[in-house]
Amino acid sequence: MLDVTPSKGNRAMNIHEYQAKQLLRRYGVPVPRGDVAHTPQEAEAVAEELDGPVWVVKAQIHAGGRGKAGGVKICRSVKEVVAIADRMLGMRLVTHQTGPEGKEVKRVYIEQGSDIARELYLALLIDRRTGGIMVIASTEGGMDIEEVAARTPEKIVRVALPPAADMQGFHARKVAFALGLKEREVHKLVRLLLSLHRAFVELDAGMIEINPLVVTSANKLVALDAKMSFDDNALFRHRDIEELRDDDEYDPLEREAQRHDLNYVKLAGDIGCMVNGAGLAMATMDIIKLNGGRPANFMDIAGAATKERVATAFRLIYSDPEVKGILVNVFGGMMRCNAIAAGIVGAAREVGLDRPLVVRLEGTNVELGREILSKSGLNIIPATTLADAAQKIVAAVEGGR
Ligand code: ADP
Ligand code: MG
Repeated sequence: MLDVTPSKGNRAMNIHEYQAKQLLRRYGVPVPRGDVAHTPQEAEAVAEELDGPVWVVKAQIHAGGRGKAGGVKICRSVKEVVAIADRMLGMRLVTHQTGPEGKEVKRVYIEQGSDIARELYLALLIDRRTGGIMVIASTEGGMDIEEVAARTPEKIVRVALPPAADMQGFHARKVAFALGLKEREVHKLVRLLLSLHRAFVELDAGMIEINPLVVTSANKLVALDAKMSFDDNALFRHRDIEELRDDDEYDPLEREAQRHDLNYVKLAGDIGCMVNGAGLAMATMDIIKLNGGRPANFMDIAGAATKERVATAFRLIYSDPEVKGILVNVFGGMMRCNAIAAGIVGAAREVGLDRPLVVRLEGTNVELGREILSKSGLNIIPATTLADAAQKIVAAVEGGR
């Protein structure tokens, strides 16, 4: 997806293609008929409800690039649908967006095949500069939009909507003309885009990507693929959407952290980072990298006012076998350094600390905090500055290799 940088601290919730299509259908966006299936038997029942002569079986995972990876298959009979669904369900699909471990396919979507004349690209997302919605469109649908952006940036059109304003017909027409649509197709695109926009606003979406949006040989416009994500912070007013969350798509540690209202992101390195605030998290990861280390995660305990939550955060980081050492870099403002230190010491004792732990505390009650750490009898490496802390943890983890 283009231009979507997660904003600091905000997490986006993604949903499956079939769920996005169900939502969009309610807003009047044309999508092919179809339904989800968890077993080959269900796939058969769905296929029988649809008219042939072409059906499409699509793996439902939170990643794009399924087509190229064998996760989208065209079928010519109900029997074929069943066979393909049987093969797809339970397989691990590896696409350029899943990482090498791939994702297990637990549901497939069976839909009516479309007779495609042209594949276009259409997306709505939040423009971080203005805070308004931006429409992105391209005649080069069906492809990776990142690739189009890299090779032929002139083929991507952006139409920014003023923040807090409705989409007007002329915005939509601008997009339609840029896509080379003519006459009746223009009206269809305007209607479709207005529906998408309404869905985006009413559902507090962060992104809706239709790739491809197709023009069929009968000159219809149909959303053939749909990805939607939502701002986590708005989900409290959309319980029905929150229920669409597929826990299987999340790392178990991420899920556990979420239960405790901790902002945790898993990364590919081996140094666990406990910080408070997204800004300090970014700075901590940067300086670890600058010193030649690689962060394994960032665990943001911002808002955690108790030593119990600090301890929970520490235990979660420690439970990841990829973590070979931990750097705690916390600024005690409202949260006092002695409470942070007590939380760390308690959890470190409990796990029987046997990996390097560097702690840098600053702020309220820092002297008390440092005293708790030094008197704990645990092998905790104290650090003063951010640079000092990063050097120490990188050296300690490298020494242990
Ligand atoms: P992904 O983006 O994960 O690869 P898509 O849903 O975009 O998955 O499907 C990939 C390609 O498969 C599309 O570009 C389109 O050519 C084809 N396709 C998908 N759904 C249908 C359908 N219902 N009818 C015909 N072709 C389809
Ligand atoms: Mg697609």
